[in-house]
Amino acid sequence: MDQGINRIVIVGAGQAGTTVAFGLRKAGFHGDITVVGEEAHLPYERPQLSKEMLQQERPALRPMKAHADYEGQKIQLNLGRRVVDTDANERRVLLDDGRAIDFDRLVIATGVKPRQLPDSLHDPVRVRYLRTVDDADHLRADLEAGKSIAIVGGGVIGLEVAMAARAMGCTVTLIEAADRLMSRSVDEVVSRYLDQAHRANGVDIRYGVQAIDLLSDGTLKLSDGSIVPAESVLVGIGVTPNVGGFAHLGITDAAGVRVDPCGQTAIAGIFATGDIASQPHGTGFGRVETWANAQDHAINLVRNVLGESAPYESPVWFWSDQGHINLQVVGNATQGTRVIRGDEHGDSFSVFRLDEQNRVTGCTSVNAPKDMAVARRWVKLGTQVDMNRLADTAAPLRNSAL
Ligand code: FAD
Ligand code: NDP
Repeated sequence: MDQGINRIVIVGAGQAGTTVAFGLRKAGFHGDITVVGEEAHLPYERPQLSKEMLQQERPALRPMKAHADYEGQKIQLNLGRRVVDTDANERRVLLDDGRAIDFDRLVIATGVKPRQLPDSLHDPVRVRYLRTVDDADHLRADLEAGKSIAIVGGGVIGLEVAMAARAMGCTVTLIEAADRLMSRSVDEVVSRYLDQAHRANGVDIRYGVQAIDLLSDGTLKLSDGSIVPAESVLVGIGVTPNVGGFAHLGITDAAGVRVDPCGQTAIAGIFATGDIASQPHGTGFGRVETWANAQDHAINLVRNVLGESAPYESPVWFWSDQGHINLQVVGNATQGTRVIRGDEHGDSFSVFRLDEQNRVTGCTSVNAPKDMAVARRWVKLGTQVDMNRLADTAAPLRNSAL
């Protein structure tokens, strides 16, 4: 370990920032660790916000660690505080209360925030976003039996909330600008399955339209002129990076804070991890907005912060629980040769994607976690498979590997 490092500042008290902080202690770092986080709550993982916390019996928020753990590990937490500026030469960050904190190493883990609808659709009472526990509390209060909710965006947030809202007895309309659900991350076959499953659950899905006017009679006008019930509106139309405080350093790109495979920015000693990190991705760079990345990239980053050179390499993987549907995605699940294993019209199947050499490059599984366990290994190793055996559910999946 590089013993010249005495003060490490982590900006962003979310999943990735917290993982780095505790990871540094685990790795034997004895110097000062300071975490600055804008939210007032103890750091928590977000998947619970769109799942357990929207249920009838709303459980209490589960923080990642207790106060005593931070004290025990001598991790200094500054919650409810935002970093507003960074001086890379003086090695100092400035907080919104005027305090300055010096660092030898800086880790930017500020995540993302929801992309907003246009100002004309701004309404702090009727229009909700879902990123924080406070957002989840407000949304949960809207979900009452018999009430109507219009959901703008047919991505992960929109679909998870649609299931929760229907379970609470709400009337749900889902508005998706594209022509299919979750189009950025899943196969068309899976989009069709999701469309049928959510319609069967009572969700009215509208494609190729936008929300244009919030009407005072509790409805919403869409771009095709139709009117849908919308006592409340939940917006899940993607995110933008939290780069304020770092934007002037020359280390950002359109996606976030650009890093090399070791999580290092263009400025020595300044790193980024989690959703905010614009990482090497295929032939370019991009954000990886998943729980697994916030965990694993952050764990790997610890070694780099402490002076090693440890590139991070892991295929993208995430899950989405939508009522009875467990969806999992690994790698690039939208390109390459498609092989379906199982009945795409049933409730359990997987869609594999292969390259020209029949190597598995991606997979989406629907209620098929065992397939996904194998697919994750294959995508990581670039395993070649026999296409016919892959599609044959009578034979064990692992027998498809060549
Ligand atoms: P965050 O957890 O967002 O933490 C960043 C923190 O930095 C925030 O608290 C923010 O307030 C703070 N911050 C920002 N700017 C500043 C500043 N200037 N100064 C100080 N603090 C700042 N992924 C999955 O794989 N599966 C799931 O089922 C899943 N469910 C999800 C459900 C919801 C509702 C959401 C919102 C996300 C979900 N995700 C899921 C994605 C996953 O939670 C994120 O990828 C993960 O939280 C990223 O962690 P992070 O630490 O990078 O960012
Ligand atoms: P996504 O990018 O997943 O989905 C947004 C969807 O909204 C896309 O289908 C997008 O279409 C569509 N859209 C964009 N603009 C409009 C518009 N004006 N009107 C209607 N539809 C529109 O983002 P989410 O908001 O669902 O999720 C936000 C964040 O939360 C992400 O970081 C995500 O990873 C995280 N999250 C993850 C979960 C999980 O992994 N299970 C669960 C919940 C949240 P197009 O792509 O064509 O622009």
